[in-house]
Amino acid sequence: MIGQHAARPQRLSDDFLAELRGRVNLFDIAVEYTDLKPGGAARYKGLCPFHSENTPSFIVSTDTNRYHCFGCGADGDAISLLTELGGLTFREAVDDLAGRVGLTVPTAGDDGGDDPRIPLRRALNACQPLLHNWLMDDADASAARQFLADRSFTREHAELWELGFQPRSHHLARHMPDRVRPADLLDAGMTADGHSGAYDVFRGRLLWPLRDATGQIIGYAGRDLDGTSRAKYINTRETALYRKQETLFGLHLARRSMLAKKQVFLVEGYTDVMAMVAAGIENTVATCGTAVTPAHAEHLGSRIGDGGEVVTVFDNDDAGRAAAWKAFLAAQSFTSRITHVHLDGAGAKGDPCDVRQHHGDEALRDLADARTPLLGSILRADIERCDTGTPEGKTAARDAVVQRLRQVRDPVLAREYVPLAADWIGIRPSDFGAVAGTSAPARQAPAQPAPPRPATRSHTPTESTVTVAATLMHRPIFIEAATWFGGGTLAGLLGGKLAEVVENSIALFPDGRPEPGTEDAELWAATLLDLFDDSYTSTITVATMTDPCEPDELEAMMGRLARESARTRLVALQAQLDTADDDSLTDLLAQFQEAKRHLKALSAS
Ligand code: ZN
Repeated sequence: MIGQHAARPQRLSDDFLAELRGRVNLFDIAVEYTDLKPGGAARYKGLCPFHSENTPSFIVSTDTNRYHCFGCGADGDAISLLTELGGLTFREAVDDLAGRVGLTVPTAGDDGGDDPRIPLRRALNACQPLLHNWLMDDADASAARQFLADRSFTREHAELWELGFQPRSHHLARHMPDRVRPADLLDAGMTADGHSGAYDVFRGRLLWPLRDATGQIIGYAGRDLDGTSRAKYINTRETALYRKQETLFGLHLARRSMLAKKQVFLVEGYTDVMAMVAAGIENTVATCGTAVTPAHAEHLGSRIGDGGEVVTVFDNDDAGRAAAWKAFLAAQSFTSRITHVHLDGAGAKGDPCDVRQHHGDEALRDLADARTPLLGSILRADIERCDTGTPEGKTAARDAVVQRLRQVRDPVLAREYVPLAADWIGIRPSDFGAVAGTSAPARQAPAQPAPPRPATRSHTPTESTVTVAATLMHRPIFIEAATWFGGGTLAGLLGGKLAEVVENSIALFPDGRPEPGTEDAELWAATLLDLFDDSYTSTITVATMTDPCEPDELEAMMGRLARESARTRLVALQAQLDTADDDSLTDLLAQFQEAKRHLKALSAS
């Protein structure tokens, strides 16, 4: 798969990321994924959005601005939440969060000046409510509203997609607030220079806002309604924000579902995406009037992962098949599961919008469920074009199949189609010679089974050790007892990492950790996180989120833990003794005796 980090054009400085993480309120983002209720001071609790559960074990701390699940171990911050649940790449998550808190993300060659894209965004954001209101209410937009109604789209659908209309009678420039200059409208692609000054590019057109993965508007696609233009559809020309080769219509609404289902439906038109989503197939996107490019494939691959399913829903004509083949070639960079939905015979035009309009949501869902491998249906179409009743037709069909299979990157897939294609043509598999499959370039890496989500889950200390740690940070007075239970070290009781965290917390706050939710508590958590490298983050988060226990409980808990770890240590020492050489024998024996004494003392206590 093309790495997710290829989408990071420039390494962002740690300072910038730290500032971003500090400014973002994780609670605001986490509630978009699960209901959260107050669960203690500076803490919210809810059902875990990373795994399925009935009792809440997902905790968001406002002290650390981190989340942790005591059920599945999911652990992280706002950025990881958006990449692991939100279907955003690292860079997109950073852009999204920066937008929420009003930070400017440094760009390559950044001289500290303002991002040149900001005035364009401002212009588009000022246009959007105007265009949308014109569609909903303006008398000139009746044909546009009728266009949608004819395709079984309601006002709610127009609102969901925030569709717009540019009447000929209104000029965007006259409605702009002061902070948007005419040049900004021009740079954003909303106007163009004509004989008699700037004119509105999309006049008389129904408009689909085009957005990046985070939902920011980057341009528009407009459909002509009165037949006066030669071009039925036009898109915003390439600008500093909009790049046709990289944009997928619907991605901002589809990304979460794509990530969850590891599947994406690729359709041809804007109304097709709307129809699929209206029918409940939310993981649907379309390219903006172009073939699937490697940049599109990267967007898809980084969300559905290696081995995810790409479903093409293209017209069953030459143009549709050519588009499907391009999609296949681009998608095989990350998966071999590329399927196809046949809409032939369903509706006059056989596209998703048409099927839903004439047969309803359920019919569209049923057709989407009946998928077949795309490569197979392309090969069959190739073969059907040849007159396989004649020897010449058979060789033409074989050549067409060989031509396709040579471009298939997965040699197994290519090889497995040889006997099938031979059967369809009515020749022997050996008639293909060694051409197919073997001459195809081998895949760089075999498809790996998908890693469990989230991909990186840190080892979580046990509930008892964390509770003891939380209690010690809360009441440092028990540290001496804890050290005794540990056989002379705190690490003997809690394990190395947790012990280090507790020791540092007590050094910082010898009277006990600050009350959760206070400014001091934030400082305390931030200082601890700062002291250690990233491999400690999860341990610290868990420890800061765990409630301390009562003193009498503490002693019993420490006793149990200490006996457990003393027994484990004895077993380990015994094993070492069995294989020890003379040099280390004396030392090991002393350790063994000491450990035995400690266990005895523990059992007596
Ligand atoms: Zn969980």
